[in-house]
Amino acid sequence: MILTANSLKDIEKIIPSNVTIMDLKNKIRLNKKDKNIIILAEYDLLNADAKKIIKQILKIQKQCQKKKIHIGCKINNEDVYAIILNKSNHKLNIKIYESLEIILSISNISSKQERIEFIYDKACEYLDTEKQKLNYCDFKNDYCIGKRNPNNGNPVKMGCCYHVSVIPFKKNTLCKYLHNKDCTTKCFACKLFTCDAVKVKYKIKDIIYVDCFFNIIQKIILKATVLTSKEAIIKMLMIF
Ligand code: SF4
Ligand code: SF4
Repeated sequence: MILTANSLKDIEKIIPSNVTIMDLKNKIRLNKKDKNIIILAEYDLLNADAKKIIKQILKIQKQCQKKKIHIGCKINNEDVYAIILNKSNHKLNIKIYESLEIILSISNISSKQERIEFIYDKACEYLDTEKQKLNYCDFKNDYCIGKRNPNNGNPVKMGCCYHVSVIPFKKNTLCKYLHNKDCTTKCFACKLFTCDAVKVKYKIKDIIYVDCFFNIIQKIILKATVLTSKEAIIKMLMIF
């Protein structure tokens, strides 16, 4: 979890003496003697450029894993990974806060696959929730808004869960992961995909933790792999 404090003095009072405070405002270099660190970010810096701060945290996580340094400590029986110095008690943007929490949650996970899967699952959960909340595909009797009134051709069931045939007169085939009208895998690219009938468009850059965590090639994979199983996507992400 993340704690907030009004002053550096308050922070120093609650942090155990064997834990080094890694202030992101200063140089983020680890000391040889460090065995346990806690991250300190200033509210103003976080609010001004959350992506920069999150990328700094990811860098620190990498260094800590190499040097086997633990991130976070117990405060009031809670695992605290970071402290936000918030002198004026401002409310932090919820998207920034959640992204920070997600990135901090992988602090002590050393397996690359586990880290990728964690971020991947969180991003899928987020897009599922948004889709449910906003109902932008507006399915009625298995016909979505884009396919029940198509610009050309006849209405088609099951939204865009099918392979479009490039051979004339050959029928499109439903995606093999569609069972009982439900997707049986977690395909990020499908969740991100929206046709022209949908006004709400989600982009990778709008999901802060995804944008910061994955590199350019991984982001291309995430965008391009529609109709693909989660396992196959994770395998591809692991290569880069
Ligand atoms: S993105 Fe478009 S085609 Fe696909 S399910 Fe939604 S409304 Fe239908
Ligand atoms: S993988 Fe994509 S196309 Fe296939 S069922 Fe799931 S959402 Fe539909």
